[in-house]
Formats: sequence, C-alpha cells, structure tokens
Amino acid sequence: MKIEEIRNQFLSFFEEKEHTIVPSAPMVIKDDPTLMFTNAGMVPFKEYFLGNAIAKNKRVTDTQKCLRVSGKHNDLDEVGVDTYHHTMFEMLGNWSFGDYFKEEAIEWAWELLTGVYGIDKDNLYVTIFEGDKKDGVPRDTESYNFWKKWIDEDRIIEADKKDNFWEMGEMGPCGPCSEIHVDIRSDEEKKKVSGKSLVNKDHPQVIEVWNLVFIQFNRKADGSLEKLPATHIDTGMGLERLAMVLQGKQSNYDIDLFQTLIGQIVKQSGFEYGKSETTDIALRVIADHVRAIAFSISDGQLPSNTGAGYVIRRILRRAVRYGYQTLKMDEPFLAPLSKTLVKIMGDAFPELVDNKTLIENVIREEELSFFKTLDHGIKRIEVIIQDLNKQNVKEIPGDQVFELYDTFGFPFDLTELMAREAGLTLDQKGFEKALQVQKDRSRSATSMKTDDWSELLKDDKEEFVGYDHLEAEVKITRYRKVEQKKKTFYQLVFNFTPFYPEGGGQVGDKGYIEANGEKISIFDTKKENNLIIHLVKELPKDPTATFKAVVDAEKRGLSAANHSATHLLHHALRSVLGDHVVQKGSLVHPDYLRFDFSHFSKVTDEELEKIEGIVNNLIRENSPLTELRNTPIKEAQELGAMMLFGEKYGDTVRVIKFGDSIELCGGTHVPNTGNIGWFKITSEGSVASGIRRIEAISNVTAEKYMNEKLSILDNVNALFKNTKNIVQSVQDLIDSNNQMQKELERIEKERAKNIKTELKKSIVAKDGINFLDAIVPLDGGAIKDILFQLKGEVTNLFAVVGGESDGKCTLSVIIDEELVKSKDFHAGNIVRSAAKHIQGGGGGQPFFATAGGKNPDGLKAAIEEVKGLI
Ligand code: ATP
Ligand code: MG
Repeated sequence: MKIEEIRNQFLSFFEEKEHTIVPSAPMVIKDDPTLMFTNAGMVPFKEYFLGNAIAKNKRVTDTQKCLRVSGKHNDLDEVGVDTYHHTMFEMLGNWSFGDYFKEEAIEWAWELLTGVYGIDKDNLYVTIFEGDKKDGVPRDTESYNFWKKWIDEDRIIEADKKDNFWEMGEMGPCGPCSEIHVDIRSDEEKKKVSGKSLVNKDHPQVIEVWNLVFIQFNRKADGSLEKLPATHIDTGMGLERLAMVLQGKQSNYDIDLFQTLIGQIVKQSGFEYGKSETTDIALRVIADHVRAIAFSISDGQLPSNTGAGYVIRRILRRAVRYGYQTLKMDEPFLAPLSKTLVKIMGDAFPELVDNKTLIENVIREEELSFFKTLDHGIKRIEVIIQDLNKQNVKEIPGDQVFELYDTFGFPFDLTELMAREAGLTLDQKGFEKALQVQKDRSRSATSMKTDDWSELLKDDKEEFVGYDHLEAEVKITRYRKVEQKKKTFYQLVFNFTPFYPEGGGQVGDKGYIEANGEKISIFDTKKENNLIIHLVKELPKDPTATFKAVVDAEKRGLSAANHSATHLLHHALRSVLGDHVVQKGSLVHPDYLRFDFSHFSKVTDEELEKIEGIVNNLIRENSPLTELRNTPIKEAQELGAMMLFGEKYGDTVRVIKFGDSIELCGGTHVPNTGNIGWFKITSEGSVASGIRRIEAISNVTAEKYMNEKLSILDNVNALFKNTKNIVQSVQDLIDSNNQMQKELERIEKERAKNIKTELKKSIVAKDGINFLDAIVPLDGGAIKDILFQLKGEVTNLFAVVGGESDGKCTLSVIIDEELVKSKDFHAGNIVRSAAKHIQGGGGGQPFFATAGGKNPDGLKAAIEEVKGLI
C-alpha cells in the first residue's frame, strides 16, 4: 500500500466515525512564545484542552506536520543514525474534545490496525500507565480493562511515567497514555527472544507506532497537576512508521517515499545504499532533512541567524556536512533533491508546489554559502595544525575545536578525522566545556519563567472589539507574573479588549487601563494562541475593578495607515512585476512598513517609481474600505483573496478590500485609502535568495521625511544664492574643483623640480663622497622621489634631507650602494639614531631610510649628527 493510500485510509476511517477532517496546521508556529515548531499533533488544539477556546467540531481527524528538533522533544541526534526517528514527520491523529474517551479510542485503534490495515494481532503489544505516587495518579485500570476485550492480557504491559505519561512541555495539558507497539522481526528471531521483553527497549524492529493520550490534567508551574474541566482524546501515529509496517519493511527509509529520495542521492553521489553503515547514515540524514527544510521554507520560515530560522539552518548544515564529509559531494545537492521531493509530496501538500522555485533557490544559496564556510574552516584547521606542529603540541585545544564547530559548522568528529590525519588528537573535555557554556548562555537569554494564571473571572473567550472601538470598559479575567531576561512584568487577559495584539506583521497596540484614579500603562499587546495578552510593568492595586481600557489612538492610526499602504503596495507590486510576487513577510509599525516578497531580480528605479505612483494614485482615489468579517473561506477565495501558506486560517476569515486589492487580513485599516495621506518607498534590497524587501513610509512620517529632504535642498540652494539650476551649479562646482586639483598637482611637481635643481647644485664633494644636506618644505614622499632621482644622476651620493610640511617633519637618508659596501654605512641605523632629535622613529634599508617626527626644530641637530659621521 502506498503512503498516500495509508494516509487517506486513516482519515476516511475516522470520518466514518463522525470525525471532521481538518488540514495540517503550519509546522512553524507564529503566535506562541513557548514553542517554535509544532512537535505533536495536539499543538494546534491545545487551547481546546486548556479551556481557552471551544472546539466547533468535537471530533476531528488530521495528519499533522511535526518537527522534533528543539525543546522537550528533540530527536535530531538519532535521525539517520537509527531507522525510525525523523526530524519532520507526519502524525496521524483522531481527536475528541470533551466527547468520547478511552473506551472508543481503544476500540477504534484496534479496529483500524487489525481490521482495516490487517496487522496480525500476534505482532501487537500495548502499554498502559502503571501510576505515579508523587503525582498522585493511580494505575490506569480502566484502559487495562478496555484492552482486555481485544488483546491477550499477556500482551498488555505496564509502563512508567517516562514512557506512558504524555506531556507537551514543562507546563500545560497532559495525561496518561497507552501505546501500541509492533514487532516486525522475522519469525526466527521472535522464537529466540519474546517481543514483549523488547517493548520500550529502543529495539529498531519492536517499535511504538501509535500513542493514545488521555488528556486529563494541566501541569502547573510548581510541577503539580490540576484536573481539567473536561477529558479529551489525543492520539498520534507516525505515518512513516505505519507505512514501514504495512509495506513489510524493516526501516522507515525503506518505504516508497524515502526510497525515491535516497535513489536520487545515490545517483548524485555515486554511493550505493546498503553497502556500509557510514554511508547509509549519510544517505538517510539527507533524505530526512530535505523534507524538514523544504516544508519549513514553504511554511514561511527561511533559514537565518536567529530563532526558528537558525534551527532550520542547522538542519540544513547537518545534511550538507554528511553529504560533503561522507558522500564527497562538494556542490549543492539538496536543491536538486528538493525538486524530487516536491514531485512526490506535492499532491498531499500543495504548498510545496506553490513554493517550489523559492524552496530550490533558498536551499541552493544556503548550500553554496555553507560550502564556502567549510572551505574557510579547512583553511583554518590547516593553520591551527601548522601552529601546533611548530610548538610541538600534539593536541588541539578545546576552545579551538569549539571555534571550528561554532563558526565553521565543523562537528567534533570531522575535526577529529582531519586532526588524526595530521597526527594530532583533540581536547574533548575542553570542547564539551565550551559547548556547555554556550548552551547555558543561550538558555538564560531566551528562557521565560511564567507563574500559573490567577483566575479572577470565568470567561471562555476574550473577544477583540478593537476594529470598532479604541476604548472599552473591561474586567481582568486572569493575570500572571513573567520573568524574562532578568525583567519582571505581568500579563493581563481581559473579558474583551480593544487592544490589537501583535500579528499579521502589525505591531501590538500600546495604551493604558484606568480605575479608581490609578492609571497603568500597557506597553505591548501580544497573542498567545487564542489569548490576547496585555503586558504591564505593575499590577493594579485592585485587579478585580472595572477598568477603562484606552488604546493609544495616534499610534494605532499610523499603524492602520501603514497596514493599508502595505496592501496597496502588494497589489502594485503584482501589477508592475507580475503574479509571481507573493508576500513572504511584513512588518507594520506606526513609523514605517517593511514588505518582503518573492522576486528574482532587483526592482529597478523605474519600476519603483511606477509602483510608488500606483499606490499614490490609489490613495488619491480615496477608495473606501470594504471589510467582510466572518466570511466563509470558500467565499473569500471566490472573491479572489490570496491565501498565504504557513498561515493558520479558520473556517471563516476576514476579507479586506480596497478597490482591486483583496486580502485575508486580521489587521487594522484606514476607513478610506485617502487617510494614508502619502506613500514613499525609502529602500529596496535583498533579504535572501529570491526574496526582496521594500521599506516605506506613509502619512505624517512621509511628510516629515520629504520636508527634511526639501529643507536640505533649500539650504544647498541658499548656499548657491538660489541659482536657477541647482544640479548644474553643483556639477559646475565639482568640475571647477577637479580643475583646480589638477592645477595644484602640476604646480607641486614644478616646485619639486625646482627644489631638486637647487639641491643638486648644493652637493659638495669630499673624500670621494658627494655629500648633500638640506631642509626643504616637502613631505616624505616627494623627498623620496627627488633623492632616488639624484642617486641615479650623481655617483657616490650621501644625502640627508629634512622635510617640513603641515607641521610634521621627516628625515630621509640615501647612500650610494658602493659607499654602503666600501664604508660600511647603514642608512637605517643612521636614521634610527638621528630621529630622536625630532621626537620620532623610523628605519629602513642600508641604502635608504626615513623617519617621521613631531619636532621640526630638531631637524638641524639631526642633520648635524649625520654630518658628524663622515
Ligand atoms: P519514541 O519513543 O519512539 O521516540 P515518542 O514516545 O516520542 O516515540 P510520541 O510523542 O508518543 O512518540 O508520538 C506519537 C507517535 O509519533 C509515535 O508513536 C511515533 O509513531 C511517531 N513519532 C514520534 N517521534 C517520531 C519521530 N521522531 N519520527 C517519526 N515518527 C515519530
Ligand atoms: Mg520520542
């Protein structure tokens, strides 16, 4: 059975059990500060479990793109080394939000695996939670009894908290779970060792395929458990592992999907699969990682230097390293591989097809730049090895191994290999220490400590009323204390709020709340999943009061102008550059806007002028805002609204329309385009391969900007006595300046020539030496010129010349080579000694040397000292 069929059968099985099929949420998370990537199927639903939102469908089924490379679930080190952990994988799930519970979940799992998929029940084992005293959770006897109906009691295994109590993170919804394990070993092996003894023992052929989680608790900040108001079902089955079982394979990488990818790398590298463990690991790593990278790019997360982007860059570099080090590939290979991936996964995930050029280009650019880094790293290792050899040291110090790792992406074992070839070892302890220091530093920089919520009022949804109101009477429903980067602040949640939370590129509102004469300023508003969180530095004296909540209207108005301008810009970009232009990111601030979009060449000045013109025309047309709230998503698409991949849309969306510009958007906007006032592009540039960025301003900021520019122009104009043609006047000035510069140089040359003639005349012959001493008003360079000319014209020359110009002085000595040889003169030593008179230093060769100094008055004495030598 092909992987598509397996996926579809799962979904239709649960659809028949009255589940609604929903699409995968993005893998990259945008509105949750506690999590960078979706690491389990439950992540998009956790607000339902916590009671912060109410699910419209009580039964849901899906396949969710998951990534386990950071935080509590991090499988990166295993990936490729073993055969059943991936970075990115698909998790099939069925969900009950306060609806059915253990009995049905167990029954249906059994029916699907043994009945529909036809897995032999003699190969299955299940686990149940044995209970935990410290947490006060008893053995899961209920599940035991339900399983007993389907499977031999001998095949039900009790497991501890580590294996059978599921938690998403340090805090949050959790509960006991029951896992289903499959034994796919040969009959012969099964006879030798019982499968039961291998469950949960990291055996690659006795593995967990499905986890049924019974969400019952919320883990609080102090580590204690709190019963949730309702119980839920959360199940997760790895599609790739299931496919391995159903396709009768022994490794996830032997299923159709990965075999196609591996086949492609085999072709590119010339290394066959199945020949050696080392090259097999490399082939598996690359086949796995290309998926994680391509999917995150199509979800809008490009590789970068920070946060989630950095995680993606590290995955990419891990793949490149394996290709380079083990498979000897030194040209981009992931970029072409991504095309194969799009072919095989594009049907199920159309976002891959839509972004295929972007994916390929971004990956290629990253690969090329990493190959360069690797090159530099190799050179650096060579230098390190050379230095150590000189000092006769046989071990590369830990901090240098770390530098290679951190700056050049060299893993420990690659450095070790290269060191070994040069007969050196590595200081592993020192390396690990340096690594730990870095880890601790980055943890303390990002870690956020939150207290539990203090709940003041029951409220299941915090409505946003800020589209219509900038002020409201609100109650605080809950608050908590947060510590981040050594700062303490508080998060407040209201029953409803006029404050716009940061999102869709637009920054969060600022403002204040006020009650009983006490005013508390709100310095930012953010979204955490479904909650709108208001950030304050201090709590009000009486949090239970009714507050007047007031948004900073001026800032909001400017943000709205920039947000509407962003839509018009997007529209104008598409009409001038073409339909390939798609938004890739944006920032809407009261003072400016930033818009990133796909486009493969620089936007020319003429194009920018056109784009700016279109936007300003649309502003002058003063088109009114048409805002359609709660439009079914189908209808919005029919209207022509663009959907962006990597965005999470509900069943209904908000449509924002100005003339022909139609977008799905949750942001705040001006009532008429005329309110934008004026639009001005301030810069255009590249942010990544195939992605351009435009920065622009509007409204009063644009006015101020233009006024400043005009006032500079006015000032220049005034300096030119208000000439008619200012550009011509500036050009004339530059021209005449150049002319004068040339004239000056000519005069200088002339003067030097005259000085040279004078100097030549003053040479005196004595004891076979043609001696010259003088002080001239020239700089060192000009004096050197003259002296070298004289040396060519006069035999046996010995000259000492002081120079004075611009308050500085120089001393130059030139001695004919014959004299140097016969009389053992050394100009360098002579100058070094004489330079003390001019408070300077210098030196040079035996036949020519110079010194610079601060004391021109000492030149005479310096020359006397040199004279004394002859
Ligand atoms: P394991 O112990 O094998 O790492 P897990 O306990 O971490 O698994 P869960 O968190 O329960 O797994 O996830 C549910 C299911 O998702 C698992 O039963 C498995 O089929 C699949 N799964 C988990 N991690 C991975 C991974 N890194 N790659 C592929 N599939 C995975
Ligand atoms: Mg795991």
